[in-house]
Amino acid sequence: MPAGTPYNSFVAPYPIRVDEFTEPKSATPALYLLTHTHSDHVTGLNAKSFGSIIVCSADAKEMLLRHESYRTRYLVEQKLQHENLRTYSHLKAETIKIQGGQLVHADTRDLLRPIPLHTPTRFELSNDDWVTITLLDANHCPGAVMFLIEGSRGAILHTGDFRAEPAFMSALYRNPYIQRYLAPRRSPTKDAAIVGTGSPTETLEAIYLDTACLLKTASVPTKEEATNGLLQLMNLLPPESRFFINSWTWGYEDVLKAISRAFSTKIHVDRYKYEIYTHLSDPFLKALVTRDSHATRFHACERFDRCKQVWYDDPAVVYVNPVNMSRAKWEMYLTETNAKLERGEILSHLLVPLARHSPLPELQEFVNAFQPKHVVPNFLEPKLKGLDWACMPTMFGPYMTPGGADTIRAEVQAAGIIDNISELNEDEVIEDVAIANLEGHHGITELAEQWGDDSGEGFEDSRTGGKVRKMFAFLPKGITLLVDRAIRDARVKALPAAYIESDHDSQSDDSQRRITAEAIFGWHNGTSVTPTSSPGTNVKSKTSSPVVPGTSTVGQFVKSAVGTYPSPPNEMRSKAPIYQPINRNGKRSMPEDDTGGSSTVLAPPIVLRPSAPMWRHPVDGSVSPPLNKPPFLDLHNILEERDATSESSRKRAKTSHDQSSPQTSSHKQIASASMTFSKHSQGSQHRGRPQSSGVTRNDGEDARAASSPTRHGSPVALKTPTAVQSRHRPSHVQSPQPKSARRIERQLEKAERQNISRKLSLARPDLVASRTTREQRTLE
Ligand SMILES: [Zn+2]
Ligand SMILES: [Zn+2]
Repeated sequence: MPAGTPYNSFVAPYPIRVDEFTEPKSATPALYLLTHTHSDHVTGLNAKSFGSIIVCSADAKEMLLRHESYRTRYLVEQKLQHENLRTYSHLKAETIKIQGGQLVHADTRDLLRPIPLHTPTRFELSNDDWVTITLLDANHCPGAVMFLIEGSRGAILHTGDFRAEPAFMSALYRNPYIQRYLAPRRSPTKDAAIVGTGSPTETLEAIYLDTACLLKTASVPTKEEATNGLLQLMNLLPPESRFFINSWTWGYEDVLKAISRAFSTKIHVDRYKYEIYTHLSDPFLKALVTRDSHATRFHACERFDRCKQVWYDDPAVVYVNPVNMSRAKWEMYLTETNAKLERGEILSHLLVPLARHSPLPELQEFVNAFQPKHVVPNFLEPKLKGLDWACMPTMFGPYMTPGGADTIRAEVQAAGIIDNISELNEDEVIEDVAIANLEGHHGITELAEQWGDDSGEGFEDSRTGGKVRKMFAFLPKGITLLVDRAIRDARVKALPAAYIESDHDSQSDDSQRRITAEAIFGWHNGTSVTPTSSPGTNVKSKTSSPVVPGTSTVGQFVKSAVGTYPSPPNEMRSKAPIYQPINRNGKRSMPEDDTGGSSTVLAPPIVLRPSAPMWRHPVDGSVSPPLNKPPFLDLHNILEERDATSESSRKRAKTSHDQSSPQTSSHKQIASASMTFSKHSQGSQHRGRPQSSGVTRNDGEDARAASSPTRHGSPVALKTPTAVQSRHRPSHVQSPQPKSARRIERQLEKAERQNISRKLSLARPDLVASRTTREQRTLE
């Protein structure tokens, strides 16, 4: 199962486990389900000791039993190995015994139990308990299905990995097996009005949702839009061009099918893909593949061992790479690339934004179709420490039955994410698997980074810090302030303690954390809650924060900091247009899509990047000018200002809750200071983009992914480290710069900051002394 799946991959309350085949830690599953065969969904299945029945689709069974590791494929290809060692052959085997000197057929073992789509099938869980399971297409890759599980404890829909684009939703609305769980459609104008279907409906207990692209808030092109745009560009290239389609994992078959249809051609594939595609149920996929490399100019052969027609250094080859791209960027890319081709430019790379997972607007649309009682994530990014989960009540609450958001919130609280926030590392890279698996000539990485993903301002969004900033619109204010504090603590640790102090108590014990958690999670949607286990903290309402003698600093902090979950629920529910991102809705506070448009962010204004050249206030849009003074002077002033700020913040915390956090303004100063330091410092080294240790955002994918340990010396994708332009760029310039340069600049500035701090401690010991005096005064 993908990383972060709750309940140890069980579909609570049933003893059914999905996409996880390791030794269960607690309960023993009565039944295993497999949604599809991407590698992160078959964990534990290669163990020869596994001996349980698995329900899956017929295509998934074919793909699993024919699966070969990259190593096996390579050895067979090189004729170094005769027999195909299939990874999962033990799931279907015949046992032969020798009896009385003769070979005797002893047993047949066939653990994979395929059931056809749209065929409710009954499975016993125990003597007196059973469920009916129905498979539905998931629009993700060949063989991928969703499971509708119906039994005595209610109905649950498990999506596995899926792409709920409009065509998929239309099919769903017409599907008789799912129709009874569809919520009555709400009128787009009146919240109360129900456009009834007339038929009785039931409510899903829970949807187990594909949350792989939960934080992609911009809408993305449909598969058809993506392939149509690609074909339009391919048609403008010279008719003798040869194409290498980088379908590096299962799920890009729509690109192959569209090309085959448009150019009336077959596509050259390697032995392994040919074997798989010709054994699937899709007749078109079966028919489009060829093993004759000279029969076509379109190739999707093994990328690490491709045929001579699309050899690595051949300048005539045009590469087609799938990437993540928003709809807005795709339209811009199409216009720009079209213009280039019409001017006669020769291009060697084309991008295609074929999304295999749904972004947030589609997920909301999907949940809204059912309005279930509960939504459980199938994937949580480990580096986000549960914050992505904490976004879900705001993201999906408006589309669930009343109380649904509370159910998610209670689970998030039980998972204890508050305790993990201190471990956030804003610099950790969250890898984009599409970028990690690019193929092509020089420049492909830069091209993909220019257009790819829904990063608003550059590389930051592939980092934990950027993702965290994006989540602020969905998190309760209490959590965003804790996050801000954790990040500042981490930065403070990197600096000599004498210069930058923390204006809060970061030493919190377990009971204080519990108080924090209760206050944050119990306090939502304007409901006032008095934490039961925190005598002394008399929390009355979200707008008054009385200071109670004896309260811990954390308690005080929480009282001043805790807000509500951003709450536009009814508005969102009633007005959200079908398949439009809900941030189109005027008042709704959500990060804007990657066109860089304006957005109103209700969350506290916190700047996570110390290197930000300018600081823009997210609420009123005012811009602070960059400081342009000698660094020593600046630091002194900043420390003074911080003192004043933190004192006034404490005063304010006693009286009222302030929308614009005082911590922010001091943080702004730190940000500006860091920026100023970097202008004046010398001697740090240029560093290239850090090499990722592998694909971290586990998108499944099979052994063909870049994380495959064996490339066997073949020429590989040309990924050149981006050159640093110049770090002497004027700091007040706000114009966009190359993303790779931004990333490098971040690292440079971090190193410079440390360097400067060290120099400063040697040069101005008096500053340390005066600092200490001030601290003592404050404590008095
Ligand atoms: Zn998948
Ligand atoms: Zn080929």
